[in-house]
Amino acid sequence: MSSATPQTRPLLVMKFGGTSVGSAERIRRVAEIIRGGLDERQLVIVTSAVAGVTDKLVQAAVAASRGLEEEWRTIAEELAHQHRAMVGTLLPAAEQPALLHRVEQEIAQVEKLCAGFSLVRETTPRAMDVLASTGEVLAADLLAAVLQANGSQAVPLDAAHLIITDDKFGNATPLLDETTDRVRQQLFPLLAQGLIPVVTGFRAATPEGAVTTLGRGGSDYSATILGAALDAAEVWIWTDVDGVMTADPRAVPEAHLLSEVAYGEILELSFFGAKVLQPQAIRPVMSKQIPLHIKNTMNPGGQGTRICQSVSNSRPGVRAITSVSQASMLTVNGKHTLSFPQLASRLFGALEQEKVATLIVTQSSAENVISFAIHSLDEARIRERLEKLFELERLHGYMEPLEVLSNVGVVVAVGENMKGTPGIAGRLFGALGRRGINVIAIAQGSSELSISFAVRSADVDEAVRAVHAEFRP
Ligand code: ADP
Ligand code: ASP
Ligand code: MG
Repeated sequence: MSSATPQTRPLLVMKFGGTSVGSAERIRRVAEIIRGGLDERQLVIVTSAVAGVTDKLVQAAVAASRGLEEEWRTIAEELAHQHRAMVGTLLPAAEQPALLHRVEQEIAQVEKLCAGFSLVRETTPRAMDVLASTGEVLAADLLAAVLQANGSQAVPLDAAHLIITDDKFGNATPLLDETTDRVRQQLFPLLAQGLIPVVTGFRAATPEGAVTTLGRGGSDYSATILGAALDAAEVWIWTDVDGVMTADPRAVPEAHLLSEVAYGEILELSFFGAKVLQPQAIRPVMSKQIPLHIKNTMNPGGQGTRICQSVSNSRPGVRAITSVSQASMLTVNGKHTLSFPQLASRLFGALEQEKVATLIVTQSSAENVISFAIHSLDEARIRERLEKLFELERLHGYMEPLEVLSNVGVVVAVGENMKGTPGIAGRLFGALGRRGINVIAIAQGSSELSISFAVRSADVDEAVRAVHAEFRP
């Protein structure tokens, strides 16, 4: 049974990303932002690990599984030092011992896990999730303690007790009904007492209590899962850019802020590499039509981006460009012996079982050929799977060998109002042609929200800049 909603002031979920809590100075700013939000709203806070910590934890685990003891011990010591130093800078002397003890406990657990990996010379997905999400536990404890030291009633909470998922360790999917009940039962009483829950992002657990994680960048997802479960008025994602931009500002210096973006547009952008929001994070708020805001911790007064059902007065055409720079293009050729539907159903059946994301799919029914792009990380696994799947046909000469083109990138132009606007594809490919960029494959989303094309990895940034310069979104 879900608890009733006790809200008096509107409820807001605020998530702070790794760079937002990346140093003592930044954590101070975050505490100010939280205090500033309290007058008008009830807040639930979600925090990522301090920037770089998750990468270091994964690096330690990999080193341990290779028996590189000095490396993993050095990383564990660096992490301990980094967190101790932040405790020393941020908390009054009387509050430090309790927090330092928590740091030692968490680092001791990291060391135990690494010693285990080292012993068996492998990592297991289940133990990896406990290890990889340690940074969020440390960050939530620290942020809550800083808020308390400043007179706010904050409580750190481990999302392993709140967000219930399946057991796909490393990339788990939330079980929404169980999660909603659990979240409401645990958080509403705290909110009713005027407390500010500070919840670990990224982390969750199976119904049996085994810790899982929500995929890299998963703290965004934690925030929207909590927002949907609590029927929050809004979810705010605080990060290190002003909001959703017309392109990644690291690749395109002229990229500028989009004040409004439609859910459909951000789904396309994030699926195709715009790291500003994790793709899975969109569905929970989209289905409940809860507005999502992206804001910059370093520029809290900025308007940010509002993500909502539909954008008012957006001009037709390309609104933003994104890219995946490390992809591979695979081509299966059924010659003339396998019918096209047979070829397609066997191919996509296998891809479905492998749960692989396809970035682009193109086909020629006449020639019985299907090409598709996947993330480079998936190449070896999918290649092996398809070679096995079509082994007999290959042996009998019914099919051509699988063709694999590595070092490919996928560029995607997105715009809700591209629908029905003639001439966009012509301008886009004209711009690429003038810069001498060779296009390997083209696909237009049937929703007409996007046009995607594959180029060589080395041409990706230039292609993004060419499209940006052509459409000046
Ligand atoms: P956080 O640690 O706050 O979760 P991320 O690094 O995951 O932050 O995401 C923010 C980054 O996303 C930005 O620094 C920016 O480089 C990148 N990014 C990629 N595409 C876009 C885009 N279209 N708009 C804004 N940021 C983008
Ligand atoms: N700390 C996790 C990561 O680096 C989750 C997040 O930052 O959203 O992937
Ligand atoms: Mg992120």
